[in-house]
Amino acid sequence: MSENLLEVKDLHVQYNTDDAVVYALNGVSLNLKEGEKLGLVGETGAGKTTLALSVLRLLPKVGQIASGSISYKGEELLDKPESYMLGLRGRRVSMIFQDPMTSLNPVKSVGDQIREVLDLHFPQLTKEAKNEKVDQMLQLVGIPASRKNEFPHQFSGGMKQRVVIAMALISQPELLLADEPTTALDVTIQAQIMALMGQLKDRFNTAVLLITHDLGLVAEFCDTVAVIYSGCIVESGTVEDIFSGKNNHPYTKGLIGCIPDLSKDEDRLHPIPGHMADARTLPSGCPFADRCANAMDKCRKERPEAFSEGTHTVFCHLFDNMRGGV
Ligand code: SF4
Repeated sequence: MSENLLEVKDLHVQYNTDDAVVYALNGVSLNLKEGEKLGLVGETGAGKTTLALSVLRLLPKVGQIASGSISYKGEELLDKPESYMLGLRGRRVSMIFQDPMTSLNPVKSVGDQIREVLDLHFPQLTKEAKNEKVDQMLQLVGIPASRKNEFPHQFSGGMKQRVVIAMALISQPELLLADEPTTALDVTIQAQIMALMGQLKDRFNTAVLLITHDLGLVAEFCDTVAVIYSGCIVESGTVEDIFSGKNNHPYTKGLIGCIPDLSKDEDRLHPIPGHMADARTLPSGCPFADRCANAMDKCRKERPEAFSEGTHTVFCHLFDNMRGGV
C-alpha cells in the first residue's frame, strides 16, 4: 500500500459558467504523508482553495472535476458515494476556512457548535462525555471552558479562529486542510495561531495542507512545499529545497524576491510584474510565460516537463538541458 495519506494525480477541475469555462486546475499532482505539513503556495486565483474543496468534494455546483484522481489512504475518493464522504468530512479530514467570521453560526453558542461535530461523528458518546471533550478542546486552544455558552460576536477575531480550530480538531482528524487560516488576523495573533496549530498537530499527529500566499509562514511551519500557478504545480520539494535558492522556478524566485529583506537598505518592494493568465484560456505552453523574464519561444508553445533532483521538482524549460532534453 502507498505510504502517502493523500495522493492527487493529474487533477483537472473547471468551472462551467454561463459565459465561459474557467480552467481552475490543470493537471495538479501532489502527495502528502501521514503527519506531514505541506504548504501550498500561490497567488489569489491560482487554484489553492479549489484543490482543497476538490479533496472534500465540496466544489460549488458550477465546479466539475473533469479528470484525474484523488486517493486517500489508497481509496479513490472520486468513486465514493456521498454517504462515504459524509463520514470523511469533519471526522477524518477537517477544513479550516479562511474567514472565521463567516465560518461560525452567529446564533449558536461556540460550545454548541464544537459539540455538533461530536453529535454527528461520535453519536455513541454520552452527553456528559461530549461536554467534557468540548471543555478540554476549548482549554487546549486557549479559551476558558467557562466561555462555551457565549456567542461568536462576543469573541475577537483571534478567539473566533481558535474556536474554528477547536471544531476542526475535536475529531482528531488524520488530515487538516487549513485555507489561509491566519489571513484575517493581525501578525501577533497569526503567530499564536500557527504555534497552536503546530502543537495540536504534534499532539494528534495530524497531517496539514496549509494553503497560503505567505512564504514566510511556510518556511516556519511546513516540511514540504508545492508552488501553484494558474492551476499548475510549478515547483515542489522540501522547505530546504525551495529556500536554498538553487534551481528555483522563476515564479518561486519572484515570490521569494517579494519578501522584504530587512538587512538591505531598500525603499521599494519587488513585485512580480503583470497578472496571472486568464483562466478561461488553457495555456498551451508555460502558464508563467507572459510574466517571465527568461521566457523563450518554446515556453509559449510547449508545456514544460518535470525536472527532478531528489525531493526537488521544477517544471521549467530552463532545466531541459539538465534533464537531458533539448
Ligand atoms: Fe519562464 Fe519558460 Fe521557465 Fe516558464 S518555462 S518559467 S516561461 S523559462
